[in-house]
Amino acid sequence: MINKQPSCQDIFETGLMSVDEAKARIAALITPLSVAETCPVGQSRDRVLAADITAPFNVPPHDNSAVDGFAILSRDIPQQGRKKLAISDTLHAGDNRPCQLLPGHCIRIMTGAKIPSGADTVVMQEHVEQGDDYILIDGQHKTGDNIRRAGEDLRSGEIILPRGKCLTPPDIGLLASIGNGEISVKRKLRVAIASTGNEVFDIGQKPPENGIFDSNRYSLAAALDSPAIEIINLGIIKDDPEILQRQFQQASEYADVIISSGGVSVGEADHTKTALQACGQINFWKLAIKPGRPLAFGRLNQCLFFGLPGNPVAVMVTFYLFVKPALEQKLGIVLPRLAPTLQVKTLENIRKKPGRTEIVRGILQQMENGEWQVKTTGKQGSGILRSMSLANCFIVLEHERGMIKSGEKVTAQPFFGLFSS
Ligand code: AMP
Ligand code: MG
Repeated sequence: MINKQPSCQDIFETGLMSVDEAKARIAALITPLSVAETCPVGQSRDRVLAADITAPFNVPPHDNSAVDGFAILSRDIPQQGRKKLAISDTLHAGDNRPCQLLPGHCIRIMTGAKIPSGADTVVMQEHVEQGDDYILIDGQHKTGDNIRRAGEDLRSGEIILPRGKCLTPPDIGLLASIGNGEISVKRKLRVAIASTGNEVFDIGQKPPENGIFDSNRYSLAAALDSPAIEIINLGIIKDDPEILQRQFQQASEYADVIISSGGVSVGEADHTKTALQACGQINFWKLAIKPGRPLAFGRLNQCLFFGLPGNPVAVMVTFYLFVKPALEQKLGIVLPRLAPTLQVKTLENIRKKPGRTEIVRGILQQMENGEWQVKTTGKQGSGILRSMSLANCFIVLEHERGMIKSGEKVTAQPFFGLFSS
């Protein structure tokens, strides 16, 4: 009988690291970027703020009208019946001339116009009866109605955006509202990507028989596409330990993070770990997860290294599970994008072995009764990239779980938001 060696395909191999421990180990090794650069506000979407932003003045700068209507004195609101007020002036948004409201009068005012001195209330034009040069108002108004107060959006001196905020469209509007043309952001994170394998060829090349096209560098580049990231494309590297080592070493002099795919298993042509060991340190390389069991994590000097498996689905799963959160931490993002999960019924049995986390690709759908349920995308081999392309969620089957029966609840993590930078 052959005495079996532990293998990457071996389901019951002991000593595999749990997903949580691997995440903790990665997090412990990261020091966030500290270098900043200036960036025009109009180009700052998804960049990460390097310093707190403080409001230099009140927004809005003055009390102004929230509606088209009439500015009045609350003393003129009648206790009963109706009261006639003479229209003494008209104010548009942007008017700057001094304007005084006198008792018994009103001033026609447009949305955004500065409240004239003396006025303390605005009555909507739909709520008055209007004559040529007067209005009639009733008693259904309260002091302060329809006035937007100075500083009610941003108060002078307060921190309106914290350092580490990944800028969203409303954040950019906020920066523009205080007249900011340029801001200080974290410099771009430099991420090098490489594919490995003698059988792997790039688009445009003619692969020989048994050759395959490189999909990993393309899915990774697309997943990394963000204004906060500079991608350094190292191309396809042959299964040669010396070439791998040289390329990784060179890349680590510029890049903050290297992501390779392939060559992390225990085959004769799997040299990624050896190369990493020769010029850096391996932190771990075997995880209790499917797909994605061989994942080499470590560093070369200050550069983080993720040696992802070669199988295209494993690349995607491990990228979203381990690499993306690490990149966000490295960028110093204070509120990482949430990846919400749902507990939903599965429409089919799912095979599962306890002792490892399994990430199945699923389709989350709303049933006629309004309930959300999930089914798998079919064959789940880690080389079947279509299973990921067809999916709209991950079904996360936790470490201790065994076989799952149709109708049981499972954890679904929708892709919604996951693919945005
Ligand atoms: P490896 O981990 O290098 O043994 O690769 C595992 C499987 O993934 C093999 O079948 C490879 O041919 C395949 N593979 C590796 N790299 C790529 C790539 N860049 N694109 C598509 N498939 C790949
Ligand atoms: Mg390979």
